[in-house]
Amino acid sequence: MVSFDNVSKNWGENHVLKALNFEVRAGEKVSIIGPSGSGKTTILRILMTLETPTQGLVKVDGDVLWDVKAGDRPRETRQMRATRRKIGMVFQQFNLFPHMTALENIMEAPVQVLGMNKGEAKERAVELLNLVGLSKHMDHTPPQMSGGQQQRVAIARALAMRPKVLLFDEPTSALDPELIGEVLNVIRDLAHSTDMTMLMVTHEMRFAEEISDRVVMFDHGRAVESGPPAQIFKDPQEERTRTFLRAVL
Ligand code: ATP
Repeated sequence: MVSFDNVSKNWGENHVLKALNFEVRAGEKVSIIGPSGSGKTTILRILMTLETPTQGLVKVDGDVLWDVKAGDRPRETRQMRATRRKIGMVFQQFNLFPHMTALENIMEAPVQVLGMNKGEAKERAVELLNLVGLSKHMDHTPPQMSGGQQQRVAIARALAMRPKVLLFDEPTSALDPELIGEVLNVIRDLAHSTDMTMLMVTHEMRFAEEISDRVVMFDHGRAVESGPPAQIFKDPQEERTRTFLRAVL
């Protein structure tokens, strides 16, 4: 469903991704772990076309999203925009429109981007607010909600576009500790109930272990180890994975 083929990303002399080869199968739930600065978020941002690879091929659902040769300066095309619509993303900082209600935040993209009529978009938004346990908050704006509630609205907003691939970038890292559980519960339910492909960057190791089909350990722009959670957390094969897990667990 998602593939990175020989993808590099440089910021000047900083080689953030180094000839990365990485694949996520349709329906798979994959967590990316690894130290700060290892390139985890960059992968998600390239998929959202928020970042341009320096080189390499990225495909989503069989479509080419990026095909960059060394020295190219690629520009966004109609084909890329269409492919990107297959992907939803939940950011660390929620990124909701502060002046819009929860309902309006969820309706915005289906109406503006997909051209859905407002009645249909509203019906779907109400369903999604119910799914994330926020039916009572549909008329509240972000400043009237807790961080955990805002992040659940952000998840509903991503789902409103019916993505084939859902990306999570450390979805609980901006939350107070007591609000983390409610967001993880929503993600856990989604992981167990949908056949959507899910790719999550996380520092919540126990959660990654619980919900993932596969965990990928990143270090210095490379996937150093990949395997089922039982293997990565209980019997890692690479020394770098062992030292990282010893430090964070
Ligand atoms: P964290 O866990 O801290 O979020 P990460 O593994 O997600 O880290 P990335 O956010 O992908 O790491 O960043 C990888 C590297 O790219 C870092 O060294 C970062 O400083 C660099 N980087 C990211 N964005 C930019 C930018 N806009 N300009 C320059 N360097 C950048």
